[in-house]
Amino acid sequence: MIVDARGRRFRNLRVSLTAACNYACTYCVPNGRKLMAARNELTVEGFLQAVKLLIDVAGIDKLRITGGEPLIAPGFDDFVRGLGRLALEDVAVTTNGQFLGKKLEVLQHSPISRINLSLDTLNPLAFRRLARSGDLETVLSGLDAALDRGFKVKVNMVPLRTGNLDQVLPLLDHCLARNVELRMIELMNMGHLKSSPEFHRDYVGMDELLEVIAKQYEFERADAPYDSTAVRFAIEGKGHFGIIANHSEPFCASCTRLRLSSDGHLYGCLSSAKYQPMRDLLSLPIEIAREKLQDRLALALQNKQPVAFSGETTVMKFIGG
Ligand code: SAM
Repeated sequence: MIVDARGRRFRNLRVSLTAACNYACTYCVPNGRKLMAARNELTVEGFLQAVKLLIDVAGIDKLRITGGEPLIAPGFDDFVRGLGRLALEDVAVTTNGQFLGKKLEVLQHSPISRINLSLDTLNPLAFRRLARSGDLETVLSGLDAALDRGFKVKVNMVPLRTGNLDQVLPLLDHCLARNVELRMIELMNMGHLKSSPEFHRDYVGMDELLEVIAKQYEFERADAPYDSTAVRFAIEGKGHFGIIANHSEPFCASCTRLRLSSDGHLYGCLSSAKYQPMRDLLSLPIEIAREKLQDRLALALQNKQPVAFSGETTVMKFIGG
C-alpha cells in the first residue's frame, strides 16, 4: 500500500472513459465546440487491464466512470460488463443524463448501483444556454426512470452567479420531492477559468449558497464519510443536500482520489497537471507492470495538494470530473 506523509492513499478511482461530450457547458468548454469523438483513447481491454492493475497495486475498491460523457463512449457497455468480473466494492457513474433512459437496461445488468446526474437548471432556456446542447425534458425523465428502477441517484449542480443561482431552490425542491440528494459543486478555477475574470464573476461559495437555502429551509450539518468531498446538511423530515466546497472548505487532507484519463494517464490530483503514464504498462508482463506502477503511483501521490485546491489549466472533461 502506498501512503503519503499525511496518511493519504489512493482508494477511489475515477475513469474518464472518453473525453468526448455531447454537451459543451460554458464553464467546461471555452469555445462552445462539442468534442464528439476523441482520438488516442484506451481500448476497453486497455481500460479493464488498467483498472485491474490499479486494484492490485493501489488497493482501489471504489470506481466512478466519468468523462467527457461516459454514456456516449463506444465501449461503455463492454466496459461496465467487464467491471463485473473485478473485485470492486462500489461502482458509480457520472453523466449528463441525456442518454440515461436508453442505458438503464445496460446499467441494471452491471455492477453500477449509483448514478450522479449533472443538472444545472430546471429552466429549458437556461439549460440550452449553459449546456449549449441537449434537452431538459429528456434528462428529467431519465432521472425519474432511474429512480423507478431503484438506482441511488444524486444530482450535481454547479451554481454560477450569472448563470443559474436562481435555480438552487427549484432544484433543491425537485430533488427533495424525489428523496434525491442535491450536490452543489463550487465552481473550480480549472481549464479556461483558471485565473480568469469569468471565474471571479461566477464563483459562489458555500456561505452564500447556505444563505439562499436558509430563505426556504431550516437545516443542520450532517455526518459525511471520512473521504467524502461534500459537506452535508439535513433538512428535518425532508432529506439532505451537500456542497462540494472545494474553495470554502477544502477536502485535500483526506483525498483518496486517483484519476485515469481516457488516453491512459494517471493524475494524482485534480489541481495538478502533472501525470504518470500508464498505457505503456498495459503490454508488459504482469509482474514488471506491477513493479513499475508502484513507483508511478508513489510519484502521483506526491502531486496531491497539501491543503487546498489551487486550480489548474487542465480541463475537467479530459481528466474526469
Ligand atoms: N459528462 C458527465 C457529466 O456531465 O456529469 C461527466 C463529466 S463532467 C466533467 C463531471 C462534472 O464536472 C459535472 O458535474 C460538471 O458540472 C463538473 N464540472 C465541470 N467543470 C467544472 C468546473 N470548472 N467547476 C466545477 N465543476 C465542474
